[in-house]
Amino acid sequence: KEERSLNFLEEIIEEDLKAGKYTSIATRFPPEPNGYLHLGHAKSICLNFGLTHRYGGRTNLRFDDTNPVTEEVEYVESIKNDVKWLGFQWAEELYASDYFEQLYEFAVTLIKKGLAYVDDSTSEEIAKQKGTPTTPGTDNPYRSRSIEENLRLFEDMKDGKFKDGEKVLRAKIDMAHINMHMRDPIMYRIKHAHHHRTGDTWKIYPMYDFAHGQSDAIEQITHSICTLEFIPHRELYDWFIRNLEIFPSKQIEFARLNLTYTAMSKRKLLQLVNEKFVNGWDDPRMPTISGMRRRGYTPESIREFCDKIGIAKRENLIDVGLLEFCVREHLNKIATRRMVVFEPIKVVLTNYPKGQVEMLEGEDNPEDENSVTRQMPFSGELYIEQEDFMENPPKKYFRLSPGQMVRLKSAYIIKCEEVVKDASGQITELRCSYIPESKSGSDTSGINVKGTLHWVSIQHAIPVEVRLYDRLFKAEDLAEAEGDFKDHINQNSLQILPVVYAEPAIKEAKTKDRYQFLRKGYFCIDPDSTADKLIFNRTVTLRDTWAK
Ligand code: ATP
Ligand code: MG
Ligand code: MG
Repeated sequence: KEERSLNFLEEIIEEDLKAGKYTSIATRFPPEPNGYLHLGHAKSICLNFGLTHRYGGRTNLRFDDTNPVTEEVEYVESIKNDVKWLGFQWAEELYASDYFEQLYEFAVTLIKKGLAYVDDSTSEEIAKQKGTPTTPGTDNPYRSRSIEENLRLFEDMKDGKFKDGEKVLRAKIDMAHINMHMRDPIMYRIKHAHHHRTGDTWKIYPMYDFAHGQSDAIEQITHSICTLEFIPHRELYDWFIRNLEIFPSKQIEFARLNLTYTAMSKRKLLQLVNEKFVNGWDDPRMPTISGMRRRGYTPESIREFCDKIGIAKRENLIDVGLLEFCVREHLNKIATRRMVVFEPIKVVLTNYPKGQVEMLEGEDNPEDENSVTRQMPFSGELYIEQEDFMENPPKKYFRLSPGQMVRLKSAYIIKCEEVVKDASGQITELRCSYIPESKSGSDTSGINVKGTLHWVSIQHAIPVEVRLYDRLFKAEDLAEAEGDFKDHINQNSLQILPVVYAEPAIKEAKTKDRYQFLRKGYFCIDPDSTADKLIFNRTVTLRDTWAK
């Protein structure tokens, strides 16, 4: 691996270690289990686990499950599966909900210090009293409640004596603070909701700001890495840790990953699923990890992509072409080559012995020096691609045309002698001759041809289905695009070819196999396949052919 210069996170960590601030580091990946993970999360996973791989230490998987309403067990399972598939193993699997009792104690500590109070205001009143970024907020009468009263009311909140929204617990900081987040932020709200782990035990739930930093401290996380929108929260993060006198975790922010032609927030992806714009979270067009896995992306190529884009301190937009480049590069090294004809035209070899079949050899992967070979049946009736033939070709056309010669891959040179048409003028077959002494590997014909075509023997061809994917959105930068993001959906993002013709070796295809269909692109098998019908997803085209 080539040496690159340190990113700003690595610089911070190296300084901390050098100064003896910590002896080893600890990071965490903290997903909220309210959806499937996407490529942005993959970036965060690679970053957090990558740092402890590099510097030693541990990375926890912590489910940030403080919001009982949107969270589901299905999401927890998918998240664990995706992190493992990406190639990472967490030190501990933890849940913010496991800390509910401890967080409650922390809140009591702050009340006792006179640093938190129970507020009866409605959410509208609270919003109004907050002021604006340019005008200070106002204190309300509840702010001066006694410690004893606050302790009693907070316990009553916990015991379910109030209805949702009747009261909140707030930190008592400064209603005129220049940072709006510091104007007495809410720590707890009342929610009579069932939680996927704690059931009906709790009637109050901590807010993100009162749960996240405290969870980091409990786990002794040294570097708590999050995205830029949390910068204004950092002051509050530090305030809680300082006043609770707990482990001094540090929040550090980096720019979230945004990708061209891609929607990347769970909220939007959930809409695409619920409103059936796609066929589920793992639809191969989705930027979810499960979607990319089904599409045929490899964990290696996703990790390589995350490494290549680096860590930024400013919002930016990454070209999705870079992701495709990384996938293509990896698949070129590992994919098994097969010949598949998408839109066939029949070729009859007039001088090939009638009824004869011979087995030819082809390398599974010329990029792999240990490549095995496979057998391909060859006969006098073949399919080639319609687009590889032109009746009236322009100059420098090296594929097949009347009187012209081409090589059939791993087979013989053929020459087009006659074009057969039906009454309507449609071409029904091409009658060709083959050069017997031009067999690949033992060619003594002395003939040089420029074009090499893929083909399949008609009587041996296996019909399979292929699914071709295009970008899900037509707008390059969805954040900048006008109107609703769904207005920009590409209606032609999925094209199904129900019958294409593959060479017989395709029958051995297994779930994790990756293929290059020669001259067509990279493909993998889709789980919709049955014993009678194999279905393939196009992972990525062979070249960057997408017109901007
Ligand atoms: P979304 O906006 O898609 O719902 P989120 O940030 O709310 O994402 P979380 O489950 O809270 O989702 O995220 C877990 C971790 O992944 C957080 O640390 C978050 O900062 C990080 N993360 C989420 N999206 C991105 C992204 N696009 N780029 C980098 N990191 C991300
Ligand atoms: Mg979040
Ligand atoms: Mg979120």
